[in-house]
Amino acid sequence: IAVKFLHDMERPILPQVKNIVAVASGKGGVGKSTVAVNLAVALANSGAKVGLIDADIFGPSIPKMFGAEDIRPTGEKVDGREVINPVEKFGVKFLSVGFFVDAESAIIWRGPMASNALKQLISEGNWGELDYLLIDLPPGTSDIHLTLVQSVPVTGAIIVTTPQDVALADVIRGTSMFQSKSIDVPVLGLVENMAWFTPAELPENKYYIFGKDGGKILADKLGLKLLGQIPIVQSIREGGDAGTPVAANGETVTGMAFTELAKSVK
Ligand code: ADP
Repeated sequence: IAVKFLHDMERPILPQVKNIVAVASGKGGVGKSTVAVNLAVALANSGAKVGLIDADIFGPSIPKMFGAEDIRPTGEKVDGREVINPVEKFGVKFLSVGFFVDAESAIIWRGPMASNALKQLISEGNWGELDYLLIDLPPGTSDIHLTLVQSVPVTGAIIVTTPQDVALADVIRGTSMFQSKSIDVPVLGLVENMAWFTPAELPENKYYIFGKDGGKILADKLGLKLLGQIPIVQSIREGGDAGTPVAANGETVTGMAFTELAKSVK
């Protein structure tokens, strides 16, 4: 399926989707996509109908995290309209810009093309009824953010950060973007990722590698809800690399962290 420009913006956008939730971060590498994937799986495990769009145009990682790099979504015509059937894994329907462009050409993509690709994934995705459509945005602030809020009614944004000072400064910038007059999307809360590290052989010990409670303190300061604290765990990284998100096993200690996160988002 080729990504083409979208003309048909007259149709009501996604009337069957109850909540459109943006997952954002001030900067890259804080675990935004990891949180988005595991939150989506945990929400699906709780009985919700969940979709996920990977709009991280410069580093689409969700196909890999779902073990779906070799799968391609199919296209079909429904009522005379072209639709893209999302790929479904772990109970989550998803589409990624990574299905349509390889990493090298993505880098030379210009803003408008990237924005159009996102619009197309939203409006032509055969999403059906959903309780949540999560959108994994690129880090920072970009045209993509503007396109999103202009194209669909976004219910709210979740901001992922690490406890580290530099990451937190970027969060303040990101939060004020969502809360600005032109964007005006409620920030549902912060997720503090990489909150501490616990070695397998010392399960009682917590090492605050990136500082202690940085996300919690910032949430208090900005009057935002702290939706959850996710520790650094080897299995989270391994699950991402292997394409089996830890949240798929909601009863494990690590999986539970995402089960709890899903509860506080609901
Ligand atoms: P972002 O989307 O913010 O760029 P990613 O989700 O791609 O970040 O995560 C960056 C790297 O950190 C990945 O290798 C991922 O597996 C790893 N990672 C993210 N969160 C955790 C965590 N809580 N514990 C262990 N590794 C993590």
